Amino acid sequence: MTTRGTQGVELAVRCDDCGGTARRHLGQFVRGRELWWDAELSCPHCGAARCEHAGPEPAPEEVREALLMAHGPARLRPAGPSVDPVAAMRAFREEAGVSLGRARELLAEFRQLGLTGTAAEMAIRRLRLRDHGVPAEVVDGPGRAYRHVGPPELWNGGGPGGRLLRTPAEFATWVGERTAAELAEPFTFVVDLAGPLRLAPRRSEHVACAGGALVLSAGEIGFRREGGGWAAEEISNQSTGYCPDVASWPAVASALDRIGVSRPGGFTHEVVFRHCPGCERHNIVREGHFVCVFCDGDLPGHWNVDDGAP
Ligand SMILES: [Zn+2]
Ligand SMILES: [Zn+2]
Repeated sequence: MTTRGTQGVELAVRCDDCGGTARRHLGQFVRGRELWWDAELSCPHCGAARCEHAGPEPAPEEVREALLMAHGPARLRPAGPSVDPVAAMRAFREEAGVSLGRARELLAEFRQLGLTGTAAEMAIRRLRLRDHGVPAEVVDGPGRAYRHVGPPELWNGGGPGGRLLRTPAEFATWVGERTAAELAEPFTFVVDLAGPLRLAPRRSEHVACAGGALVLSAGEIGFRREGGGWAAEEISNQSTGYCPDVASWPAVASALDRIGVSRPGGFTHEVVFRHCPGCERHNIVREGHFVCVFCDGDLPGHWNVDDGAP
């Protein structure tokens, strides 16, 4: 449970003064009723230290992405038995640039899935809602977020091509539209930052399925009938676009639970992605052999594909 939402991340960057490896700290926090972000650089080699930014502006996308990738999204959901829609809309409209239409969307999301964002973004929304008498709570999401690390040409810049499935009814509609031939093959999936599954035909690029957005997991999934419903049969984290860690499973599990599809207790096929520190290429580790297939260098035991540095 996050209250003030203060969150930071440290990234390794090149020092402009000496060329050594410096640390860049990015942070976001709530001050009064304002959402601040800051950035500081410190270099252990030449002693350079400077504040690059500190102020109450919307954080740039690279800062949001770094925080979401390091800590995962937080979710803001109603804490009371019902939500006063007029009061909640007033609270949402206190945010700069939120139109009436956008406030309506936020209200619908808040009631249905909960709102998703960085811990600080959700903390300030919780405070504004509380000011208007709407109780809400911030809960942590199921883990870190992943950004696309594959070749940029795989995505043409369009919106999400994958179908968003938020409820059992939405899944029933989607599965009812599929032919037997389609259902015989696995589908491309991503787990949206807000929690639900997005599905696209097999051989769709994950980044196109997600519309270039951050995801909580990605892979391939097959379905079969089971009793009166549906079960997820094979599920892997096979996505060379996002290279998600096997630790992203809880996000997949909760996305399937949300749509009422029964599932196994973990990925049925686990893909172990690693970044080679020697030759800088991505590897898939086979049979527990943590050695780079390109340069024979050692690969680390922990997931290291993306450190979040812009
Ligand atoms: Zn330096
Ligand atoms: Zn290598």
